[in-house]
Amino acid sequence: MLNLVLFGPPGAGKGTQSKQLIDTYQLIHCSTGDLLRSEIANETELGQRAKSIMDRGELVPDEVVVGMIDSMLDRHADARGFIFDGFPRTTAQAEALDQLLASRNESISGMIALEVADDELKNRLLERGKISGRPDDANPEIIENRIRVYNDQTAPVKSYYAQQQKLFEVDGMGTIAAITARLEQTIEGLI
Ligand code: AMP
Repeated sequence: MLNLVLFGPPGAGKGTQSKQLIDTYQLIHCSTGDLLRSEIANETELGQRAKSIMDRGELVPDEVVVGMIDSMLDRHADARGFIFDGFPRTTAQAEALDQLLASRNESISGMIALEVADDELKNRLLERGKISGRPDDANPEIIENRIRVYNDQTAPVKSYYAQQQKLFEVDGMGTIAAITARLEQTIEGLI
């Protein structure tokens, strides 16, 4: 199996690039943000609890997202692999993911971290906010908070994979196609 963590701050292009890569490598896209937004759309109890946290740009509790990933892995037991997008966002989530995969005799093949300058992130998120309809993209203060939460709680996850020699940093600036080509080059090295 090819199991990739596509990592980076909000606005780095994880979702956009995941869509290209799942086609090329026949992988399952596992975005905790998308899963949470569909819980909200379906007005489930979990969605109702998550909404106010997401609207503030904070992180929902680890056990909630880990539980969603656990069932996603079960639902796609015969997959060729997964792209984890927006997960893990804390070191505790990274440890839980390793355990979930180990219990299925699987492991993470690599973490690919998209590197994008802060100013570019804010511009991309504000642009996306005009069309995405996401409340957390529409407000500059919430965007600032999401970037702060990323720097405080999520950026350390990189060291977790670096310690396992699984961290690959990729330049996330430029055109979508140029970034896809860089990602594919990195992935070819992992296959
Ligand atoms: P995203 O679509 O990845 O930008 O996620 C949108 C929001 O969903 C985040 O700002 C968090 O509030 C929540 N979220 C998504 N993934 C996670 C995660 N792995 N851990 C905690 N909260 C998450």
